[in-house]
Amino acid sequence: MVKGRPLSTHQVYEIVVALVGAVLLVQAFPVLGRDLCLALALLALLQAAASWATIPLPFGTASVDTAALLASVVLYHAGTAVWLGALGTVIGNGLLKRGRRPMAMVFNVAQKAISIAVSARVYRWAGGNLGSDFHFDFTSSLAMLAFVAAFYVVNNLLVVTNFSLRVGRLNVHAVREALLWDALTYLVTIPFGTLLIVLYRNLGAVTFLVLALPLLLLGHVLVLYRRIGQTNRVLTLVGKLMGVSDRDKLLEGVLEAARTITDCQTVGISLLDEKTDTLVLKASCEGVERRSSPGDVIPLGGGGLQVRVAVTGQGALVYDTWKERRVRPELPVEGTGRSLLVAPLKTGERVLGTICLASHYSHAYNQNHLRLVTLLATQAAVILENSRLYQELEHAASTDQLTGLYNHRYFYQRLDEDFAAAHRDGGQVSLILADLDHFKDYNDTYGHMFGDEVLRQVGEVLRREVGQRGIAARYGGEEFVVLTPLAVDAAVKLAEDIRQAVENHCFEYKGAKIAGVTISSGIASFPSQAKDQRSLLEGADQALYEAAKQAGRNRVAIYVPPPHLPDSTLIPPHSDKLTWE
Ligand code: GH3
Ligand code: MG
Ligand code: MG
Repeated sequence: MVKGRPLSTHQVYEIVVALVGAVLLVQAFPVLGRDLCLALALLALLQAAASWATIPLPFGTASVDTAALLASVVLYHAGTAVWLGALGTVIGNGLLKRGRRPMAMVFNVAQKAISIAVSARVYRWAGGNLGSDFHFDFTSSLAMLAFVAAFYVVNNLLVVTNFSLRVGRLNVHAVREALLWDALTYLVTIPFGTLLIVLYRNLGAVTFLVLALPLLLLGHVLVLYRRIGQTNRVLTLVGKLMGVSDRDKLLEGVLEAARTITDCQTVGISLLDEKTDTLVLKASCEGVERRSSPGDVIPLGGGGLQVRVAVTGQGALVYDTWKERRVRPELPVEGTGRSLLVAPLKTGERVLGTICLASHYSHAYNQNHLRLVTLLATQAAVILENSRLYQELEHAASTDQLTGLYNHRYFYQRLDEDFAAAHRDGGQVSLILADLDHFKDYNDTYGHMFGDEVLRQVGEVLRREVGQRGIAARYGGEEFVVLTPLAVDAAVKLAEDIRQAVENHCFEYKGAKIAGVTISSGIASFPSQAKDQRSLLEGADQALYEAAKQAGRNRVAIYVPPPHLPDSTLIPPHSDKLTWE
């Protein structure tokens, strides 16, 4: 609460519940007999132990401690049970657990006191007997059932109202899940409660210690059961992302999964850029506030929680950002919430980035949330890394190492695809086959290393000249091929651009500058000159070697198929078309 600000409905609600709880506790105080001190201390310990083994729910927790409360209602006075519930909650939920909002703790104590007071009354109304009058029979079973039902309703009503007022809406999915899990814990209330009552009569207070172990064990089994359920849920969500190879789609999927698991307002995924030593926000989805957008950059040297997690590889929780100096509010996502959860996207020891969740409310996340999001982040990192490796592999398999152009294999694949598309859509496919002139002489004169450098630089020239007009590949040796959807005239213009660019390029190698390298090209086009892939290639090859090279090199020739003679048309180095005979 900030000074000067009016109280929110949620704050007023919590205060009212706390006051009612306090009144109940004060009223009940006189009945706490001195002779009961030992039994009460043991019972409180049992209750604390049971409520310590709590099952995490979408909001709050459930535990098997109602059995001890039922027993104390029957064995002692209802007021004693109220105190017991309050004490057990303070020890189990408050003192033994980190990351609790102080007011939430006060609320929990009051909530317990109110639930016990109401359900003890309902137990009496239903004909339940107290103390030595208690006998386990049909009537007492019904009364105990009424106790459990009343406790369940009042307790959950208080908690659901509190949660809904805090987040400003009723999350039906979360409420249903919480109610189901809470109901599960009540299954042991009557059998364990009865056992406690009966044994207590015979063995005294030590009963509580004896029964503490199975009750604790049961609590832990339920906790583990719940954990397995939650882990499975994360794995199912991740399973749906397994086949996604597009990185952006994958990150969007991870964001959605994080929102499903945690009911958070803001999520951001930042990936580490090792070249610039920064964390770059690649995907984010936000609720009410909009303070960051994809593309935001966090320098690794600048501090902040996300940087810390990226550097150490350890996840972090911030219960209240107003009280946490590690947080840098000016940073993306980090500055959008009162509580934060940051988990590393980590494969092995390698951190790829971070996933940061922010909530408008303090204490929104706990260790269990961190565990689930870390699991999600780890799986997501593996998928991300696999998709990166797959893309690298795919790139390597389709690229020529020396020139960086596409390779022979990829060229043939694209040729088939482009042909299929041209057939389907009635388009065209033109092919430029280019070969360096007298390249052997350059190798012989300047050495193979220089020859390689020429090929690399010709690759650059080709990539630049072709641009969006088609794709360039190294066909083999010093032969290149350009595949383009352009019609013949435009393809001739492109081949001529390439020819001129190579002719004008000055090849630099180890300080030496060599100019005058030239290239010749042959062009064929589908459907005007060739009917299929094979005749297209043969046509371009024929135009290249039988026209362009024969006519003196450094020129472009178009294939003219038989029976039209002449076979090829030559384009001289400087524009005007020539007929080759
Ligand atoms: P033209 O095509 O004009 O008829 O003459 P050319 O000298 O270019 O013809 P040829 O096909 O006989 O020679 C091609 C040469 O290209 C032979 C080979 O040593 C060289 N070559 C092929 N691949 C590479 C390569 O990867 N690196 C280097 N340095 N040379 C290569
Ligand atoms: Mg050659
Ligand atoms: Mg050649």
